[in-house]
Amino acid sequence: MSSFGVCETPGCDQPAKLRCPTCIKIGIPGSFFCSQECFKGNWKSHKIIHSLATGESHTKNSAEYNPWPYFDFTGKLRPFPQTPKRTVPQSIGRPDYADHPNGYPLSEQAVKGSSQIKVLDDEEIEGVKVACKLGREVLDEAARVCDVGVTADDIDRAVHEACIEKECYPSPLNYYNFPKSCCTSVNEVICHGIPDLRKLEDGDICNVDVTVYHRGFHGDLNETFFVGNVKPEHKNLVKVTHECLMKAIDIVKPGEKYREIGNVIQKHAQAHGFSVVRSYCGHGIHRLFHTAPNVPHYAKNKAIGVMRPGHSFTIEPMISMGTWKDISWPDSWTAVTADGQWSAQFEHTLLVTETGCDILTIRREKNGQPHFMDKM
Ligand SMILES: [Zn+2]
Ligand SMILES: [Zn+2]
Repeated sequence: MSSFGVCETPGCDQPAKLRCPTCIKIGIPGSFFCSQECFKGNWKSHKIIHSLATGESHTKNSAEYNPWPYFDFTGKLRPFPQTPKRTVPQSIGRPDYADHPNGYPLSEQAVKGSSQIKVLDDEEIEGVKVACKLGREVLDEAARVCDVGVTADDIDRAVHEACIEKECYPSPLNYYNFPKSCCTSVNEVICHGIPDLRKLEDGDICNVDVTVYHRGFHGDLNETFFVGNVKPEHKNLVKVTHECLMKAIDIVKPGEKYREIGNVIQKHAQAHGFSVVRSYCGHGIHRLFHTAPNVPHYAKNKAIGVMRPGHSFTIEPMISMGTWKDISWPDSWTAVTADGQWSAQFEHTLLVTETGCDILTIRREKNGQPHFMDKM
């Protein structure tokens, strides 16, 4: 295999033999093509990366780039070009899916369908705690970068570099072939947005979801950040979403049923006129990224299981201003609201203790308050 990898033309899997000379000049990594023909054939969409990277671009959606001309977007947000996948040094321990051609997490798939919840021993608890602390530090880096005019790709780079510095593998990278090191979900994006070269605009809300893998354990958290001056109704959505998470955490203790979490969250969301997304749930997390228990955020769900000391799992409600229904962009990752109204999310990884729970991903400054509160 050539160290160049494969051609970047969508659908072309030929080994790459040349790099875009403009990208080399500007310092954009990657941009590999198999032949002059493929390079020329891709030029119309490829050249947009140059103007975006050099900052010559328009902040507004460029009509030049639309990979899915027949797709009916539900809101105003549009996809932008992405930079090539980043790499992690081989000296950093990696999960099984990191090197699988389809990104399949074979260790997760081996226990798929089982509702048995792992009780962590002391050593495993320490492993998850360390991963969560490092994940928090990485998200704090993302919070410092997130601002008007910054691209989601800039946030992804900051997350990726912070992970490497802390000897972590960024868990989303290559998970089922996800192409980036974190998820960035802007405005009507509910979750799993792919970091791209769109500049964040004044008034946006941007969720950054970080998971790190360190010495065999994952730690997972996300927050929604304000970009510049956010409208009061959107600020309120973000605030209520955070309250939903904290109220749910309040009931976590041994003997509580996992299905109760959704009742607490939906009650609070509905009292403010908001809806609860149903397609995406919290999850067990430790040596595996996503495993039992499944933790729905909506009321009257049929989640299986009772909380016991030593369980570690996430709660990560996604709360929307209009419908709870979601649809996916043709990239099959980006989940957006079906009506284009905005959606927010917060997430913590929790450890059930003898008397309640520890929030392993709590912010260690400003009394644990999430970053958006600094700007309320
Ligand atoms: Zn997450
Ligand atoms: Zn999660």
